[in-house]
Amino acid sequence: MASEKHFKYVILGGGVAAGYAAREFDKQGVKPGELAIISKEAVAPYERPALSKAYLFPQNPARLPGFHTCVGSGGEKLLPEWYSEKGIELILNTEIVKADLAAKTLTSATEATFTYEILLIATGSTVIKLTDFGTQGAEYNNILYLREIQDADKLLAAIQAKKDGKAVVIGGGYIGLELSAALKINNIDVTMVYPEPWCMPRLFTADIAHFYEAYYANKGIKMVKGTYSCWLRCQ
Ligand SMILES: Cc1cc2nc3c(=O)[nH]c(=O)nc-3n(C[C@H](O)[C@H](O)[C@H](O)COP(=O)(O)OP(=O)(O)OC[C@H]3O[C@@H](n4cnc5c(N)ncnc54)[C@H](O)[C@@H]3O)c2cc1C
Repeated sequence: MASEKHFKYVILGGGVAAGYAAREFDKQGVKPGELAIISKEAVAPYERPALSKAYLFPQNPARLPGFHTCVGSGGEKLLPEWYSEKGIELILNTEIVKADLAAKTLTSATEATFTYEILLIATGSTVIKLTDFGTQGAEYNNILYLREIQDADKLLAAIQAKKDGKAVVIGGGYIGLELSAALKINNIDVTMVYPEPWCMPRLFTADIAHFYEAYYANKGIKMVKGTYSCWLRCQ
């Protein structure tokens, strides 16, 4: 029979917001057994920004448990033991597929149910995939995305498997720029492709962007601007 559990507070999602919220719940005196975090990820909340930075370094890379929340703000690192000591239940590897808000009930993919008094939804965002646009070739298995730690692990495996290989990074925002730099220091030949006239157009003026583009070009990173990826041919 599928299990059922009740909590006074449930945080749905186990990312950055969940980790910081748990710390705040603790400060506010939440009692053991009152709070649960339900996450489809396999690990306790961590500082996601590390995934496009130190996690990909060829030397001394960041690894868990080194970057669990709340180290990103200079705070205490909340290890899985911290949650158990506080009586905060970490329910991992659990994807919620149905929320009945009237009945205050969540149902997981494995049909476990969780009832609550107060629900905090912290499910973040999801990566936009080329398959979402029906891009030709989008299903090739050497097309990778970066959002969760398992994505970063796939990327690391690809870097290892293709030493001195080539990569195309689609997207000229923060993550595209950081990822391109990380690939470059792993000796990957990088070409960035993005539709805007310059990188990070929502934040950078043309002058600031050109400074960074020149810096990247100087490191050997190529940038193809003003271009959408419509179809892909993979080797
Ligand atoms: C590679 C990368 C680098 C970044 N770098 C920076 C940076 O340098 N600076 C910066 O300010 N921001 C950065 N960001 C953005 C920052 O990480 C996000 O703003 C932050 O993670 C948002 O926190 P969140 O808790 O709202 O969502 P998330 O951290 O995304 O957490 C959402 C959680 O909910 C879980 N979840 C979703 N749906 C379900 C479901 N149905 N059932 C169960 N669990 C579910 C997910 O698995 C995840 O654990 C970066 C993001 C990425 C991906």
